[in-house]
Amino acid sequence: MSRLQPGFAAVDPPEQWAPTRGRFRPERLEAPLDTLPGVGPTLKKRLAKLGLERVGDLLDHRPRRYEPAAPEKRIADLFGEEEVLIEGEVLRTSLRRGRGRLQILTAQVSDGSGQISATWFNQPWLQEKLKPGTHVRLRGAPNRFGFAVRSFDLNGGSATADFAPVYPASEEISAAKLRELVEAALPFVRDRPDPLPAALKAERGLPLRGDALASIHRPRSLVEAEAGRQRLAFDELLVLQLALARRTAEREQQVAAALPEPGELIDRYRAALPFELTEHQEAALTELDADLARTTPMQRLLQGDVGSGKTVVALYALLRAVEAGRQGALMAPTETLAEQHFLTIEGICMELGVSCALVTGSVKSKIGGQADVVVGTHALIQKGFEFRDLAVAVVDEQHRFGVEQRSALTEGRAPHVLHMTATPIPRTLALTVYGDLAVSEIAKPPASRKPIVTAWVNEERSSEAYTRLRAHLAEGRQAYVVCPLIEESATSTARAAEQEAERLRAGELNGFRVGCMHGRLKPAERRELMALFKAGELDVLVATTVIEVGVDVPNATIMIVQEADRFGLAQLHQLRGRVGRGAEQSYCLLVSGPKEELTESAHDRLEAMVDSTDGFELAEKDLEIRGGGALLGARQSGLSDLRFARITHDRTLLEEAREAAQALPAWTMAPEVDALFGESEHLGAS
Ligand code: ADP
Ligand code: MG
Repeated sequence: MSRLQPGFAAVDPPEQWAPTRGRFRPERLEAPLDTLPGVGPTLKKRLAKLGLERVGDLLDHRPRRYEPAAPEKRIADLFGEEEVLIEGEVLRTSLRRGRGRLQILTAQVSDGSGQISATWFNQPWLQEKLKPGTHVRLRGAPNRFGFAVRSFDLNGGSATADFAPVYPASEEISAAKLRELVEAALPFVRDRPDPLPAALKAERGLPLRGDALASIHRPRSLVEAEAGRQRLAFDELLVLQLALARRTAEREQQVAAALPEPGELIDRYRAALPFELTEHQEAALTELDADLARTTPMQRLLQGDVGSGKTVVALYALLRAVEAGRQGALMAPTETLAEQHFLTIEGICMELGVSCALVTGSVKSKIGGQADVVVGTHALIQKGFEFRDLAVAVVDEQHRFGVEQRSALTEGRAPHVLHMTATPIPRTLALTVYGDLAVSEIAKPPASRKPIVTAWVNEERSSEAYTRLRAHLAEGRQAYVVCPLIEESATSTARAAEQEAERLRAGELNGFRVGCMHGRLKPAERRELMALFKAGELDVLVATTVIEVGVDVPNATIMIVQEADRFGLAQLHQLRGRVGRGAEQSYCLLVSGPKEELTESAHDRLEAMVDSTDGFELAEKDLEIRGGGALLGARQSGLSDLRFARITHDRTLLEEAREAAQALPAWTMAPEVDALFGESEHLGAS
């Protein structure tokens, strides 16, 4: 009830106040993309695959690079192979087929000084737009056939301008289309609220958020683009730091039981290992021991590239719990991985007289909760499953779990937790995301390993790849053939894998024992298949990406990845990690379509794989190629908002954000911090 002065008419406030001019209307950023002109259902779907669903997402789609400044030239003056701009009129066009599925569009272009034939690959629909008499502005480079077009404008100069943004695109959406869409979204920049306290902005000389967004999409210079990016990156890093501070504060409340010194069981474990531990493994064990001796629950991240020998360390941690008369649990993100861990661990546990159980969605075991060592999936944190006395939990591939799922494992128990990740995280990123965890790193694999030799071959030469593979099989080695990803569903991927296995049995791998592994097999079938392969009773495993993690067969020395251009870089690196696990020289052969047909980023990914076997280096490269936070692949990581920070370069910015976070009150940017935690809730933790 409003208290009114006598004499004033009682007027109820309007349902909605008339909008003031220039106020923020953040809801406009939430509008779905088909509210933009020219976006229909098909395009909408394709955009969604790039993670672009709302108008605001376009604003956050950071250009992966900018066109360099290039000189404008008359056609008659063209010389060399440097990037230049030319302008002229189309005289005529022609379309022809090249090798494979390649389609080459040629336009004769004249500017009065001379003529040149400009070429486009695989864009036949352009022919219709390039009618004789059309004025074109082309950016590209002269070559011995004429002029290879990199970007072009039919009217205006937005795509060919110096510093024009080049967006991360896909096979289905060109960088040019994205540029057009971002252009259409740019007016909404003003609707993006600026969450940073004004004092902080003033103190650090940061531009307004809207201005920063405008300048990354339409910079007048590279310096301006970088200044804009830094402002946006600062926001992201600040939110992460605030989130870490909150998590750390929560954790400090908990208490765990300290474990006694390593004793007789650990001695027997060490003696049972068929190899000496490396110095990196030993260092990790020392760090573990120190953590376990304390009453604060351990929160340690064990990092190491694929094949570096993390499992040995994980089992050590579990056995430390068993030795104290308590329980150890290992939680893996998929059934295949849980089963694989179980296969690895069960044998040695039996030898040591330690009971070990597997608990997954399909293997529910009542006694599971009683075993000394429990290996499982998220079934471990589901209602109805009870541990006897959990003291140490190892969470494998932890970024695949949501924050919520991870905390469900520890809820009300405060066990010591070792997080393991085989996806190498650049050091700076580790500091950013896991700044609240202590980190142990297995920096080098056992010395007996030889780096895997990787080659990238054309489909046309894939028969040579199989010749190579058969040579390995003839020497008693084993091999993997990875089938392409199929977009539609796991079922169609599985079907394709089975067909491919059938084709290979009759063709290239005739006479060898070929198994086929995919996500549609029943867990028991999968387990049996893995055991057969491990025992050497199968020569080749034709598989989908289910073999990506955890599969460990040192006798497998060669892998062929079909249609490798469809896989992400991190995924390729994980896949490749299935070979090179023994002392033998191993090989990874990446097969793709003709190089001219690949997208720029597919090209970069495959090249990076050939150039490096170092997971950290590749992770940084992946960040560069993808231009942002997609690194950990998962929305669950809470990193999906990390778009502008370039972890490889932003060390200083990161430190500034840490410092700023410490000085700010806890509620600063709370909605953003909540959002970071909140995302994983959709995973349906328990
Ligand atoms: P990760 O889990 O880091 O990918 P694993 O722990 O599965 O790696 O180890 C990969 C392979 O290396 C396994 O076959 C394992 O038995 C072997 N291995 C682990 N540590 C050593 C070591 N110190 N010396 C020799 N081989 C080792
Ligand atoms: Mg492993």
